[in-house]
Amino acid sequence: MLNFLCLAFKRFFFSFNFKVKRLFLLPVKPWYINLSFTYLCNGRCQMCDNWKRYLNQPLKLKDELSLKDYEKFFQNNKDWLSDLKHLGIAGGEPFLRNDLVDLVKSVRHALPWVSIGLQSNGLTPEKIAQSLDEIIKFYPEITLAVSLDGISETHDKIRGIKGAYEKVLKTISLARKAGVREISCGMTIQENNFNEILKV
Ligand code: SF4
Repeated sequence: MLNFLCLAFKRFFFSFNFKVKRLFLLPVKPWYINLSFTYLCNGRCQMCDNWKRYLNQPLKLKDELSLKDYEKFFQNNKDWLSDLKHLGIAGGEPFLRNDLVDLVKSVRHALPWVSIGLQSNGLTPEKIAQSLDEIIKFYPEITLAVSLDGISETHDKIRGIKGAYEKVLKTISLARKAGVREISCGMTIQENNFNEILKV
């Protein structure tokens, strides 16, 4: 009960503080950031064009920020990020970048008060599990959110990949085995899947 009251008070205080600052046009520091670590994607989703981005212009991939750019950004903006509570690392598909583990390491090093969550389409279970195995060793609190837009063929159809549903289930199972304590599913609700919300 005491924990609940503390949490409610904290929420109220932060929300009040935020509204007052906005009212007087004072600068507000970010609490949550969702970072698109890459636009590279192995999905073929009906509702998103990210996966097309590098198909015709593969050289453009080189223009993405490097690990060094991110390290510099986190190190040089510690004060601006001092209220940050959570960093979501998304894509595209973030696990396609081979320096994802190093990115998590550098955030832990620069901003140790920030919780980190990874977001994935779950299409490469073994590669994802391998990265999670490494991350868990130095950051056991890592969380994972996997896209799941329906059951079986509904998910495959929306994601444009045959067998995508089975891959997501395998990813969840391997993430559990790796020791990820919090795994959630993100569902893009649309005409084709709203009747499967409860099943998901
Ligand atoms: S997996 Fe995510 S980023 Fe990739 S195409 Fe689908 S919705 Fe877009």
